Amino acid sequence: MEELISSLSRLCPGGVHRNVSLAQFSRWKIGGIADLVVEPGSLEELSALRAFISREGLANVVIGETSNLLFADEGLRAICIRIGSRLANVQVDGDELVADAGIWVPCFARRVMQAGLTGAEHICGIPGTLGGLICMNGGSQGNNIGTAVLAVTAVNKDGVALTLSQKECGFAYRRSVFQEQDLVISKARLRFLQIEEKRVVRRQMSALLHDRNCKFPRKKPNCGSVFKSNPAMYAEFGPPGAVIERMGFKGYRIGDAVVSTQHANFFVNEGSARAADMLRLIREVREAVYAESGHQMEAEVRFVTQEGSIVSA
Ligand SMILES: Cc1cc2nc3c(=O)[nH]c(=O)nc-3n(C[C@H](O)[C@H](O)[C@H](O)COP(=O)(O)OP(=O)(O)OC[C@H]3O[C@@H](n4cnc5c(N)ncnc54)[C@H](O)[C@@H]3O)c2cc1C
Repeated sequence: MEELISSLSRLCPGGVHRNVSLAQFSRWKIGGIADLVVEPGSLEELSALRAFISREGLANVVIGETSNLLFADEGLRAICIRIGSRLANVQVDGDELVADAGIWVPCFARRVMQAGLTGAEHICGIPGTLGGLICMNGGSQGNNIGTAVLAVTAVNKDGVALTLSQKECGFAYRRSVFQEQDLVISKARLRFLQIEEKRVVRRQMSALLHDRNCKFPRKKPNCGSVFKSNPAMYAEFGPPGAVIERMGFKGYRIGDAVVSTQHANFFVNEGSARAADMLRLIREVREAVYAESGHQMEAEVRFVTQEGSIVSA
């Protein structure tokens, strides 16, 4: 182990963390101990790290702010590559921005607005990194980030940086190729629309943030929407939150894993919830909704196994 740590520290100086408590570090405050979390501080470090991990045949997993992830109670034995604030530069070039994957999404949305551009308002309240957002093709109010993406730079397992066009990213509703392929996003080029009045964009962002603050639980740890919207179910019965609420699940709990009383598609950790509790809660709600409506709800939240595989929860 000591030899591995000194190799990783040479590749990513100042970016290696041992025995990280996922129950403290992760957004949901759930999970065991991660043996090793490594945060590269540049594209070169990321490339060298990936090439090393591949040569040594080590398991690895990539994370951002963990705002869409549930970690196993057993913790994480794979090397966790974290793309965060050490890789968070952004450059403005007319109506385009080139941003590192680790930039905090609300901060990126503000930079878009400050550049006199519109189109990033819908992401201003999403608490993740740009890399995670692109991987999830996240967004709100019927929008998704993929429509603004021109190209993505990602590092493959051998440490080679590839550039993918928007088409090659395979964006669909809360989907992209980054969920299936072993690629770590390092930066992206995005285009937005020029606008005369920055004030209009600022006002829209404030209104959206106010709306989100009223609708979503803010104080208790959560991972945003647990289930994706199912178009057939939406047409017949409405969005997941409304269906779950109508079935009386608000406040339903397994241990400290609880269906939020504020928004039924948000499940909160009321103290010491375990991943097993959260997974059981997700399964019970999904099965009850299926029994009642005949529609399956796919989880948006992703589960990270002890070995570092990521699967839909
Ligand atoms: C309160 C709250 C509100 C939310 N609201 C919304 C919303 O309105 N709309 C929405 O779409 N989502 C929402 N989310 C979910 C979440 O914030 C987004 O999916 C977010 O963009 C994920 O970013 P992250 O950095 O946290 O990624 P993580 O959760 O760390 O990872 C998510 C996925 O992305 C992958 N990934 C992360 N970084 C990279 C990278 N650099 N390269 C390749 N793959 C990577 C991970 O492997 C994982 O599969 C919300 C979450 C919370 C907690």
